[in-house]
Amino acid sequence: MSGDLDALYQEIILDHHESPRNFGAVEKPDRTAEGFNPLCGDRVSLGLKIDGGSCLAEIRFKGEGCSICMASASMMTDAVKGCPLSEVSGKIQAFRDVMQGQGNPEALGEDLRALEGVKRFPVRIKCALLPWTTLKDAIEKKEGVK
Ligand code: ZN
Repeated sequence: MSGDLDALYQEIILDHHESPRNFGAVEKPDRTAEGFNPLCGDRVSLGLKIDGGSCLAEIRFKGEGCSICMASASMMTDAVKGCPLSEVSGKIQAFRDVMQGQGNPEALGEDLRALEGVKRFPVRIKCALLPWTTLKDAIEKKEGVK
């Protein structure tokens, strides 16, 4: 990875950190989940609205943490909003694979690719993954379903 590309990716991450997409609370969410990364102190809480039991119609996040975690949450909500749940699960898996040095980063889309460099810093991988594991919890757990 060239230095210029690193700088560009750094800029994308900072942009999401400074103006997070889909930040806030969902009114009357169908599902919620909270995630905590004790290594860094990152916290993420998610609210989801699920249409017809199968489409992620709305997703918002709140939380506080490092720029990697907040940018990852912002990018994730952008990437999965409006998707069928089956596709959402696929994207969660794809992102985890890339963070673990497998999978195809090209499949993630431009903004998320900015996080690929994080995999070189094992301590930060948990920061990037926290929103995604929290989303997985929110989708899989039955609690909070009306
Ligand atoms: Zn962090």
